[in-house]
Amino acid sequence: MRTPIVAGNWKMHKTWEEAVQFTNEVKEGVPTVDEVETVVCAPALFLKEMVDLTTDSSLAIGAQTMHEEEQGAFTGEISPVALQNIGVRYVIIGHSERREMFNETDKSVNKKVHAAFKHGLIPIICCGETLSEYENQETKEVVTFQVDAALHGIKREEVKNVVIAYEPIWAIGTGKSSRAKEANETCRTIRTALAQQFGDDVAKQVRLLYGGSVKPDNMKSFMEQDQIDGALVGGASLEADSFLQLVEVAK
Ligand code: PEP
Repeated sequence: MRTPIVAGNWKMHKTWEEAVQFTNEVKEGVPTVDEVETVVCAPALFLKEMVDLTTDSSLAIGAQTMHEEEQGAFTGEISPVALQNIGVRYVIIGHSERREMFNETDKSVNKKVHAAFKHGLIPIICCGETLSEYENQETKEVVTFQVDAALHGIKREEVKNVVIAYEPIWAIGTGKSSRAKEANETCRTIRTALAQQFGDDVAKQVRLLYGGSVKPDNMKSFMEQDQIDGALVGGASLEADSFLQLVEVAK
C-alpha cells in the first residue's frame, strides 16, 4: 500500500520566528513516516533552521522550487546541491505559480526532476489545468502531457519515488476545491499514463496528491478516494493546528 503524504506549501508566508514556532509545535504531533509522511515546504531562507529543528522528528522539510543546474551565474536561484547539503528532503517542482509567474516550462520542469534525483531529493511534481482547459474538458490531455513531459528520461526505479500533485489551477487559493470524485478520476488518468510509460508495478507505487483549497473539513472526501494518496496544501498548512488536523485525517 502507498503511505499517505500531507505536504504543506507555505509560499511566501511567515517570518523566521513564526516558522520556528510552527516547526516546534508540529514536530511533536506528527505520526511516524510509515503512517503518514509529513512535509513542510518553506521559504528557502528558513530551510536550514527547520531541518536542524526536525532532526529528531518525522516531519520532513522541503523546498518550493530549485534551479536545475548545480551552480553558476544564476542570481537569486537555489542550487539542488545546496538543498541536499543542508538536509532538505523534498522539492516542489513545476507549481502552477512558478509556471505562470516565473517562466517554468515543461522542459525546465523535466530538467529539475532529473536534477532532483541526481541530488537525492524527492520531487513533488505539480500538474493541473487552467479554468478554460477545465471548461473545455481538456483536463485529461493536459495532465497526461505535463506528467509525460516532466518524467521524460527518468529511470523506472526513480519514477516510483516521485510524488505527483494534481492541482487544478482554478482551485488553488480560491476556496473552490475540485469535487473529490472528479479529482480521483484525473488521478486515475495520471496513473494510467504512468503505467503506459513505466509499467503497472511502477505506476501503482507513485503517490498522487490532490491540491487546491484543501481544508480540514474537506480533506476526508479526498482521502476516501482510491487514487488519491494525500494532499498538497497551501493556505491550510500555515497554522500548526490546521496542518495537524489534515495529518490526522490522512492517518
Ligand atoms: C498550493 O499552493 O499548492 C495550494 C494547493 O494552495 P491552497 O491549498 O491554498 O489552494
